Amino acid sequence: MNNGHIIVVGCGRLGANLANTMYDDGKSVVIIDKDKNSFRKLSASFGGLTVVGDAMEFSVLNDAEINKAGAVISVTNNDNTNIMVAQIAKEMYQINEVVARLYDPERECVYKEFGISTICPAVLSRKEIDKLLEIWDEKEDDEE
Ligand code: AMP
Repeated sequence: MNNGHIIVVGCGRLGANLANTMYDDGKSVVIIDKDKNSFRKLSASFGGLTVVGDAMEFSVLNDAEINKAGAVISVTNNDNTNIMVAQIAKEMYQINEVVARLYDPERECVYKEFGISTICPAVLSRKEIDKLLEIWDEKEDDEE
């Protein structure tokens, strides 16, 4: 990764988990959420910075020192927010390592074309289920 801290946007189930894990790995982490109660999901040992606010606002991204960030991972529960934050990080701050979570699988390929890495839970889940079905099929074949 480039120098600089990692910004995680959205301290939900995924964001908190990512922030905790990356902090434990020794990385410098800043996490943003519009609801301060969300930070309760962070582990007691989390020592990164927390920023309360709507990540669609520049003042909030500035508080998170986006100008010094090496990576931005946007995992709010809103696809538009995640895309907007990813585009700001990429276009305005030239941050290469940018990931956006997208719930809508149909939009995933569109944003891939803009060079934004996307994670789509529905697509990932389908792939994992396909893998399991294949393994079980092979097992059945072997048993016959
Ligand atoms: P989850 O659905 O568990 O992944 O949680 C998503 C998190 O994203 C919640 O904690 C929301 O408060 C947070 N969130 C949603 N929209 C925004 C936003 N515009 N800026 C900052 N945090 C947000």
